[in-house]
Amino acid sequence: RCLANQNAHVLNAFITPLPRAGQWLDRVREADRRSEQGKPISAVDGRLISIKDNICTRDLPTTCASGILDKFTSPFNATVVDQLEAAGAVIAGKTNLDEFGMGSHSVYSRFGAVKNSRRDGDGQDLSAGGSSGGSAVAVAANQCYAALGTDTGGSVRLPAAYTGTVGFKPSYGLLSRWGVVAYANSLDTVGILGRDTSSVRDVFSILNQHDARDPTNVSSFSRSRILSHLQTPQLAARLTSSPLRIGVPLEYNIKELTPSVRRAWLLSLAHLQEQGHTIHPVSLPTTKHALSAYYVLAPAEASSNLAKYDGVRYGTRAEGPDSDGQPDGYLYASTRGNGFGAEVQRRILLGTFSLSADAMDNYFIQAQRVRRLVQQDFNAVFTATHPLAAADAPETARSGTADVDVIVCPTAPSPPPRLSDVSADSSPLDAYVNDVFTVPASLAGLPAISVPVTVAESEQNPHAAEVAGIQVIGQYGDDELVMKVGELLE
Ligand code: GLN
Repeated sequence: RCLANQNAHVLNAFITPLPRAGQWLDRVREADRRSEQGKPISAVDGRLISIKDNICTRDLPTTCASGILDKFTSPFNATVVDQLEAAGAVIAGKTNLDEFGMGSHSVYSRFGAVKNSRRDGDGQDLSAGGSSGGSAVAVAANQCYAALGTDTGGSVRLPAAYTGTVGFKPSYGLLSRWGVVAYANSLDTVGILGRDTSSVRDVFSILNQHDARDPTNVSSFSRSRILSHLQTPQLAARLTSSPLRIGVPLEYNIKELTPSVRRAWLLSLAHLQEQGHTIHPVSLPTTKHALSAYYVLAPAEASSNLAKYDGVRYGTRAEGPDSDGQPDGYLYASTRGNGFGAEVQRRILLGTFSLSADAMDNYFIQAQRVRRLVQQDFNAVFTATHPLAAADAPETARSGTADVDVIVCPTAPSPPPRLSDVSADSSPLDAYVNDVFTVPASLAGLPAISVPVTVAESEQNPHAAEVAGIQVIGQYGDDELVMKVGELLE
């Protein structure tokens, strides 16, 4: 069932690990009894599931890996935590992350960097990916059955690719964000990490329900619209037997792709073709602008979301006098200056700048336009239309020949870098470029999964099998199809 082993400590995957003894053991025993009687509550009854430390839990602290929340315990559980517990799952501890979810290597943490459970050929520590690096490593190192992360621009998929696990970002709005600490609301999703697609599906089916407490959660009415939209004979057949049309986005074939990643991509396509599916080149021309748009929009929303950490209402307050005898704003400035790490401060400054009167039109508004173009690019290539598009919305221009069911592409351009090369003081831009293939699906709110694909041999090291993350992206609401194709690639 996966019980915490000593590795947890060495890899720094957990901020708050599960206590060695505790009530949770009774819950596991009760679940065992239920399963002996053939009456488990659900597929995850009695299973250990780790939770990223930006998702609120009543029984364990929620730090967001930040100094500003290092003594915070939420008075309530996030809806996703309640749903898992109601299904019999046991929370296996709170996992390490980049502070507030901002980062790509899980190094910007008040509690130190997460280490990948694999090392490179020279025995050097590797990046676990971020920001849900702790959740991915907890799964990869067998500390739990599955883990929850959050994915705003790739934070579940990138760690999955780097650790050889499966990471799924559902369609925006399907899983509740109530009790999930906001980074960039219009992009934030709860994501799931597991060792295979079937465990991810088990967890997804428990969480995929309407929650009235999250205003951006898809309503029951829209959920039934999505389902009926996907039940036309042509679309429904894709989940059973009919051959799929697989899109290969030409713009993703960039020169920075390392040979092992390119090989994993080609192998995946060949594998799908052998199973009778057909491969079609597609064009997503706005891809090259997506990353810049994301890094304008996400910090803008973050700067607004993080304004509430003022040392008065939430979190840790800086020591020292209030404004008494000090310049105005002393308490606020010193609380935030001490509480937030360098990357979070950088994002707040970036976001505040792009929302300021002089910069708004050139940055924020332009980035919103790019976001719309990214969405249109995807709508132009998928056979299924967007199920929630307004009936009177203009039909997007279609290329006709390129209509595809899903898109298959790498999750990241390269394998995990060494931790020593991505330390908290290396160039932030180097970290941002790892998200180049994950942010487009985030900007469009689409479901996407990263699955590990093994490349038999590497040129440098013919005895070591290399693993690269391959990503499957589908139309909004096509989550089941995305998981199905992920499973075909496993
Ligand atoms: N690396 C991206 C960022 O720093 C994505 C983070 C995420 O998805 N939470 O914003």
